[in-house]
This record gives sequence, C-alpha cells and structure tokens, in this order.
Amino acid sequence: MIADILQQLHIQPENKGASTGTTWLNTSGAVLDISSPADGKAIAKVSSVNRSEYDTVIAQAKEAFKEWRTWPAPRRGEIVRQIGEALRKNKTALGKLVSYEMGKSLQEGWGEVQEMIDICDFAVGLSRQLHGLTMHSERPGHRMYEQWHPLGITGIISAFNFPVAVWSWNAMLAWVCGNVCVWKPSEKTPLSAIACQHIIKDVLKENNVPEGVCGLVIGGREVGEWLAADTRIPLISATGSTRMGKIVSSVVGARLGRSLLELGGNNAIIITPDADLDMALIGCVFGAVGTAGQRCTSTRRLIIHESVYETFTQKLVKAYGQLRIGDPLDEQNHVGPLIDKHAVQLYLQSIEDIRKQGGSFLVEGGVLNGDAYTSGCYVKPCIAAVENSYPIVQHETFAPILYVMKYKTIEEAIAMQNDVPQGLSSAIMTLNLREAELFLSHGGSDCGIANVNIGTSGAEIGGAFGGEKETGGGRESGSDAWRAYMRRQTNTINYSTQLPLAQGIKFDL
Ligand code: NAD
Repeated sequence: MIADILQQLHIQPENKGASTGTTWLNTSGAVLDISSPADGKAIAKVSSVNRSEYDTVIAQAKEAFKEWRTWPAPRRGEIVRQIGEALRKNKTALGKLVSYEMGKSLQEGWGEVQEMIDICDFAVGLSRQLHGLTMHSERPGHRMYEQWHPLGITGIISAFNFPVAVWSWNAMLAWVCGNVCVWKPSEKTPLSAIACQHIIKDVLKENNVPEGVCGLVIGGREVGEWLAADTRIPLISATGSTRMGKIVSSVVGARLGRSLLELGGNNAIIITPDADLDMALIGCVFGAVGTAGQRCTSTRRLIIHESVYETFTQKLVKAYGQLRIGDPLDEQNHVGPLIDKHAVQLYLQSIEDIRKQGGSFLVEGGVLNGDAYTSGCYVKPCIAAVENSYPIVQHETFAPILYVMKYKTIEEAIAMQNDVPQGLSSAIMTLNLREAELFLSHGGSDCGIANVNIGTSGAEIGGAFGGEKETGGGRESGSDAWRAYMRRQTNTINYSTQLPLAQGIKFDL
C-alpha cells in the first residue's frame, strides 16, 4: 500500500534535494536515508544540497521576486486557490505519507493536510484584504496613508513534527503577500516536502508562475545556518526547538534581518473544582498522548485543584489503561511511535531525571518491544507526580510524559502555569466565570494561546498562532499574522500649492 502512495506522490528510491518550483536540481550533498518510525523500514534516499546548489535556488528566488511582486495580489491568491485544489485531490495520499514518514496517526496526517487546505482558503480571501490605514494629516491639502509591500525571499525552516502544515502556514500567506519562498524542511521528514513540491508543480507550470517562487532546499542543520546568515533573505520563519531559535535569531538579528520564531512549548491545563471532569479528561489525554506527545502544543503539565486531584488522577490512570499503542496507519490505535531512537533515548533520560529529582509515577513509562514494535520507537505514555520547580518539568521533553501537580488557590495555579520559560499554549477547565476571566485577564496566562474548556493541543487556522517567552514571540496563520511577511510604508501626498513643513517649522528661502 505504501508503495502505491509513494508512486502517486512521485517519491523515488533516490530523490534530488533541491527544486526551484518545477525544476529539480542535481544535488550532491550528504545523502539522507529516510526510514519510517512506524515499522523501521527504509523508505527512500534524498541527496542534500551543497552550497553552490543552495546558491542557485536563492538566486532563482531573487530573480522570481522581481516579477512575482508585480502580480496583483488577488491573482497570486488564485494560484494559492489552485494549490488548495491540488492538495484536496492528494489529501489521502499525502496524509498517509506524512503519517508513515513522521509516525503520527493517520487521522492526524489527514488533519495536517486539511490544515494546509484551510490555510489556502484563508490566504485566497486575504489576497483581497492586504489593507493599510489612512490617517488625517496635520497639514492642509495633504493626505497620509500606509500600504504594505512584500519583503522578498521568505526562508522557511520547519520541524519534523508538522512536516507539511508549517510550510503551508508560511508559504500561502507569504505568496499572497508577494514574497517568494525557499523551504528547508526537517532532515527527518524530507519526503513529505518533496511530495508537496510535486503536488503543486502543475499549478505553477500551467499558470506560468515564475520559476523560483517556490524553492526547496533539503539538508541538515548547516542548510538552515546558510539561510539564517544569508543577507539576500529579509525574513526567516523558523519552527523548531528553543535551542535552534536562539541561534537563528542571533544570526538573523546580527544582520538586522527579521525572524519569525515558533519554538518549544511547556503547556499546562488547570483543572479547577468547577471543571466538567469528564470533558476535561478527553482534552487532557488527547493533549498529552496525541502525536505521541510530539506537538509544540502537547499538554505537558496538569495543575489540579487539591479537592479533585484524587478523583481526576484516577480517571486519568483508567484512561491511560485503555490507550492502544501501535502502527499509526491503523486507525484503531491512539498512539504511534516517536520520530526516532534518539527521541526514545531522550524520553528514557527524562524518566530517569524525574525519579532523581523526586517525582513518582502514577503510570509507568518504558519502551515497547515485540512484533508490533520492531522499529524500536514505540514508548508507553506515562504520568508523573512532580513539583513545578523540578528542572526536568521546566524543560520541554518531546515525548508522551504528563506531569501532574496540586494547587490550593486559583492565583497559585496561574502562577504555576506561568512559571516556566516557555509561553505557547495554556488552558483552564472550569464552569466558574470568575476563574475563567481571571485566567484570560492581563494578570492571567502569559501564553500566546489561552483556552477555556478546551485543551492546549492544536489550534484553528483563523487565529494567530504562536507564543511568548522562549516560544519566540512569532505569530503565524490567521488574524493579521500576514503583516509579518510585509513591510509597511507610510505615504504622505501633498495636493496643495504650498509646502508646509510638519510641526509648523518655518523654512523660508
Ligand atoms: P529542531 O530545532 O531540532 O529542528 C528544526 C529545524 O531547524 C530543522 O529543519 C533543523 O534542520 C533546523 N535547524 C537545527 N539547528 C539549526 C541551526 N543552528 N540553524 C538553522 N537551522 C537549524 O526541532 P525538531 O526536533 O525538528 O522539532 C521539535 C521542536 O519544534 C520542539 O521543540 C517543538 O516544540 C518545536 N515546534 C514548535 C512549533 C511552534 O509552532 N511553536 C511547531 C512545531 C514544532
């Protein structure tokens, strides 16, 4: 079955690692051997770009920008509409490839492609709404307004856990804004990126989109470093670990470029005495174990009121006992594998650290062995009782480890929720209006996303997505996130016969 999918998506046993849109370039960098964490089997090889091949893609992108920026935005939107159609046609196959290459469940693989389709729809509408403000001038016979222009090349660096959606969040908006894009996907999931390039190439060709509008450069960290340091690229949108974000932002900042950062999270749900506990349970369990805990918005911490702690943790333990772990392509399973054996090592190390730092386990973790788990990447979701201050709890472990802790007052719970270096997603489960509003107020959650009676995991594309503190401060997707991809220009037009200066300054000749 996977062989059919690969064929349909033009994945060869050996693949080139760079494209300028419809043209694949010969690439001669290091070869990446890609295997599936689902069954450990080799899928395909991809050769990375070397520096001169990378330079070719960037030069082509720079050239393409000169034409693309002159296309009316709604016409660029029409290209994005057609890309959305192409994704609709390929949703089943691309979702399966994402699931097989990355290890997330099939439902989540399809969900990721649906998110791409949704952002296309959003961007099409946006292409007619890239508006600025008008202001009243203090000078007679003058008019002031602002407009938004494209920046140039948007460099997109993406993480393994959303192999395709993060690219589309950036690219679809950047394109309607008039930018061209060069994408460096995660070296762990390059095949999904290659498939995307194949899916959209006919749209680009049929519409005579300039070659270079949609560049792809595959490679490891060093290719990301080239992008970050490249003065031809005014905006770098980087999604990944806080470690990576700190490096990228300092390199981009040193050249006074712009960076849009979407980094790690350490997301908590507060369970109050007034919560609907059965509803809360679904949000907590899906948030903690979905994508095997490998979402930036995964629920890592539960801050539970002492009066419901016993009842709620018992419900959690029971629910964990019902989880089915196994092949992500089997729709019966709830939890798939971690991305690779290195991630398994980090998970095991974290379990050891939890014990050393004083934590105890309500549900034990461990690596799964046996015929269904031959890849060696399957682990048991676990639950540990901890203190929020433990160093391990302050750190994002990208695995299905859920921390539980008690609180007495809502103020204490909010302080605990905020007392981590990251600030992505947060939630409160309560039917108490006062507590909900306090959580959402300026004295409440310090995260970019704050939910009431919804878990932390996942988000709709209509809102701006991103987080504060070590999550990086970037916003992507909906609302007015498009502004990050454009430069603002203030225009003042004098239609009078005089030239009065601002602030009443006199300058007579
Ligand atoms: P990672 O930081 O290891 O890699 C992400 C990307 O950055 C890859 O393409 C990688 O090649 C590149 N990269 C690594 N070092 C670099 C450097 N020094 N310069 C330039 N590029 C570099 O992250 P990962 O393991 O792929 O993904 C997991 C992390 O991503 C988690 O921390 C997760 O929370 C985060 N994430 C955040 C969001 C968000 O929207 N906030 C979304 C998805 C994932």
